Amino acid sequence: MTEPHAAASPGHSRPGDAPPAGAHSADDAEAARVTEFWQGLGLPGLVDIHTHFMPPNVLAKVWAFFEGGHAGVGRAWPIAYRRPEEERIALLRGFGVRRFSALLYPHKPDMAAWLNSWAAGFAARTPDALHSATFFPEPRAAGYVAEAIGAGARLFKAHLQVGGYDPRDEMLDAVWGMLADARVPVVVHCGSGPTPGPFTGPGPISEVLARHPRLTMIVAHLGAPEYGEFLDLAGRYPGVHLDTTMAFTGFMERLAPFPAALLPRLAHAADRILLGSDFPNIPYPYLHQLEALARLDLGASWLRAVCHDNAVRLLGP
Ligand SMILES: [Zn+2]
Repeated sequence: MTEPHAAASPGHSRPGDAPPAGAHSADDAEAARVTEFWQGLGLPGLVDIHTHFMPPNVLAKVWAFFEGGHAGVGRAWPIAYRRPEEERIALLRGFGVRRFSALLYPHKPDMAAWLNSWAAGFAARTPDALHSATFFPEPRAAGYVAEAIGAGARLFKAHLQVGGYDPRDEMLDAVWGMLADARVPVVVHCGSGPTPGPFTGPGPISEVLARHPRLTMIVAHLGAPEYGEFLDLAGRYPGVHLDTTMAFTGFMERLAPFPAALLPRLAHAADRILLGSDFPNIPYPYLHQLEALARLDLGASWLRAVCHDNAVRLLGP
């Protein structure tokens, strides 16, 4: 999977087929540039802990939401990788992404268990995908979260903005406790970007951490726009990490610029920052996220930790 050209073809072409027009040579060129990035750092590839794979009808709704201008960012949000699932997987493999997640999340009750069963099937047929799962505050939550952990889920996602729920909900207390005990990380979209929700921001999730201080939590989007407050949380709790998803890209810098004054703290938190991209739901090429990280000029060892080593330490090889 670290050989982009070999990895990009299975699944869509057979020996003897005529080469598909256009798209595949562009994919190869993009893969070569991404590969050059991690090879230049001396890495064996990338680990991207914030990518989305979902049941096709759910993903179609997510894409329609973004492309229809409903994301509240005041601009178009075209999906750069609006492609069939097998092509999206081939793209990531072509980029040299050794491990990636399949983050999914419900926006209403009675949906999470079904998403989790889809995610288990996806992980079973996609060995390089991290088995991902989710939850919603509802009476069955503790039951299906225990089941997902038992079935091998290695990463959870909680979306406080889309879900519109309070992370302190008592129906979630056992869930946070189980995740902490099992040392299974949970990616939490708890920042108030791109638009705030009733329970986003550092307040509510801080109370969850105060109750479950050993929780391994990954704050999505580097906590945008509350970057400083979420870096504070990482300073206070050893299990708190932040993912880079969309941070420092031109798109995000226009919405919620990262304050230059926080750069020394970002450098200092080198062991807590994890590469995330939001692939495929991004309005720019994958390489842009990597180049945006490199432009911070925090050094090759910072980039190696962020783009690979921290995730391996947290989630295994
Ligand atoms: Zn995302």
